Amino acid sequence: MQSYQQKFVDALGADLVLLGEEVERYCRDWHGDVTTGAIAVLRPRSTEDVSKAVRICAELGVAIVPQGGNTGLVLGATPDAPESQVVLSLERMNAIRRIDVDDFSAVVEAGAILSEFKDKVEEAGMFFPLALGAQGSCRIGGNVSTNAGGINVLRYGMTRELVLGLEVVLPDGSVFEGLSTLRKDNRGIDLKQLFIGAEGTLGIITAVAVKLMPMPDQVTTALLGLNSLDDVIALYRRARRDCCDLLSAFEFMPPLAFTLAREAMPDLAMPMSGDHVAYALLEISGSGLVDVSDLMERFLEGVMGDGLVVDGVVATSKAQSRNLWLFREAMNEGQAKRGPHLRTDVSVPLSRLADFVRDAEKAVHDALPECVCVSYGHVGDGNVHLNVLPPGDLPRREIDARIYRAKKIINEVLDGYHGSISAEHGIGRLKKSDFDTRLSEVRRKLLTAAKTAIDPDLRMNPGCQLSFARD
Ligand SMILES: Cc1cc2nc3c(=O)[nH]c(=O)nc-3n(C[C@H](O)[C@H](O)[C@H](O)COP(=O)(O)OP(=O)(O)OC[C@H]3O[C@@H](n4cnc5c(N)ncnc54)[C@H](O)[C@@H]3O)c2cc1C
Repeated sequence: MQSYQQKFVDALGADLVLLGEEVERYCRDWHGDVTTGAIAVLRPRSTEDVSKAVRICAELGVAIVPQGGNTGLVLGATPDAPESQVVLSLERMNAIRRIDVDDFSAVVEAGAILSEFKDKVEEAGMFFPLALGAQGSCRIGGNVSTNAGGINVLRYGMTRELVLGLEVVLPDGSVFEGLSTLRKDNRGIDLKQLFIGAEGTLGIITAVAVKLMPMPDQVTTALLGLNSLDDVIALYRRARRDCCDLLSAFEFMPPLAFTLAREAMPDLAMPMSGDHVAYALLEISGSGLVDVSDLMERFLEGVMGDGLVVDGVVATSKAQSRNLWLFREAMNEGQAKRGPHLRTDVSVPLSRLADFVRDAEKAVHDALPECVCVSYGHVGDGNVHLNVLPPGDLPRREIDARIYRAKKIINEVLDGYHGSISAEHGIGRLKKSDFDTRLSEVRRKLLTAAKTAIDPDLRMNPGCQLSFARD
């Protein structure tokens, strides 16, 4: 290991290589549940540096774990074999190469922090719609590598739909130069798609060309109380019909969300009284000549008049809107505060979402009555985070056993619904075996062919989603 470290320093210069204690923070997952190690952390400043680093790794036979903001929740960005892997962090490659208002596009380096990029885009009067709780820390390259979703998917699509082009350093150090900003380009197979959602298993994304939208200068948010999850789904359908494409977010939360959020942020003001069975948080936004406040008012008049919505508050200022979203975001932190727990990220067809949640929660409750289920998520995408919280005062071994059991139960119910074990977070190392066991023969064959053609020495993020290519 010592000689490897010296070789990296000799080849790349000390400025690009972190060693010793400095490595540790790059080897700890976002929740702090797992800490590993690495030979070194490489921190390139340019695409040329990345290419050089990748060639040195190839020469030394060292594997590479690419890392953006390390906010992924499936152990994809942290090594699992410290003796034979380096972390390659994109954090220094954070320049915005250009924002082109006339073309509705931008080119940004992979290490740019999502919220910082969005702020710059906003300064230029435009809008980049990707929005997630981790946006103050996650980086564009990580978003593309996980094909991140977030709260605006129902209107703007997953990250994949926002990407126009990519620059990628391949495992042999060569550069795929695909930073086109063309909207329409049907010259054969679209190679960039291979790298979107690949979680660093095929190459290192160094820059991304993305679509920009007109800034929605009118936004209105409502938090609504309902009698059941079925009613939430009915409300979503109604909102799609009545508010058409101006509906930009639609989340559901259980009443426990408020308790969890206040455990994380005790000063949060409760936005509404009452204890309803289910809550919907929805946002309508638009630009130009439309009047979204009027639309929200008329929509709510209708659904409250029909008795579909029991109670609600509407945010009329940015600060009020932020307060409503804080509940949704802080509930994640509240769960983390209760200790290690199962976090799932599953999807089913929208028409079956309420049945799935009911069946899965019941199955978990029957087997593990001492655990608490917390189901919430992006209704419009059929995406549920059905999390399971074991009692925090149990010994760690017992907590882990319950997490394992709950995961198995939920996945079995999910299989019956032909759902996906990963709606947005990806596979990483955490879901690798669940992913492997659900692959069809043909899918496995195609994925193995892609992996071995692009990364024949299997040095890109081993242990993650394509690790079966080794077999
Ligand atoms: C509070 C919170 C809320 C979240 N909400 C959402 C949500 O709503 N929707 C959602 O989809 N996700 C969500 N996530 C998960 C996470 O934020 C996303 O997956 C995000 O896209 C990861 O970006 P990152 O830069 O942190 O990537 P990392 O965690 O650093 O990496 C993720 C994966 O991509 C690879 N990778 C990173 N950068 C590159 C690169 N430049 N080239 C090649 N491979 C690379 C890594 O090896 C790893 O496999 C949330 C996470 C947190 C902590």
